[in-house]
Amino acid sequence: MLASANAWLQDEAGRQVRIRRDASGVALIDTLALDRSEASLLMAGDDLVAHLVDELETAYADSPDVVVFAYIGRVALRSRTHCGRRLGRHAGLFLANEGCRGHPFAGHDRQGWDKILLHELFHLLGAVPACAPNGDGARHVDDSPSDLMHRHGGGAVPRLDVGRDDYFGHGIEGCPDLAGSDLFY
Ligand SMILES: [Zn+2]
Repeated sequence: MLASANAWLQDEAGRQVRIRRDASGVALIDTLALDRSEASLLMAGDDLVAHLVDELETAYADSPDVVVFAYIGRVALRSRTHCGRRLGRHAGLFLANEGCRGHPFAGHDRQGWDKILLHELFHLLGAVPACAPNGDGARHVDDSPSDLMHRHGGGAVPRLDVGRDDYFGHGIEGCPDLAGSDLFY
């Protein structure tokens, strides 16, 4: 999923997300054991989200890294198509939500977990800024339904900032631009 996200970003913008790696170049992925059981978190419904944030805030309180989480347990969120979410300094995926299970983990085109991860990561980095000309007022763009940051995440063939005018490489003075983030190389 991470490799696919970066391959897509490379094709779209000639950039990639910096991923924490060990000395041999393998991506470092932590497994976090939660305080509560999966069954108990399933009962929690939407409160699952607040619990995850608490656990992540504790686990990564001293970390300078941007943390992206993937929750693999069953969920009972109000929205069955709620596949990802940004909260505070974390962005995450709900891999087992009913309406999301069909997403492929990778794929140059087709909306998959790789694109959803980037969508949430971009929210975490401040997209879509309020000064974006095509912002919809709710952190998404509304100029192209194919845009990765459209509220539906770009659909079948997601594209990065269509027209390069809202959040990536837009060149608007005084308006945050993700292309300048240290997270990309
Ligand atoms: Zn979004």
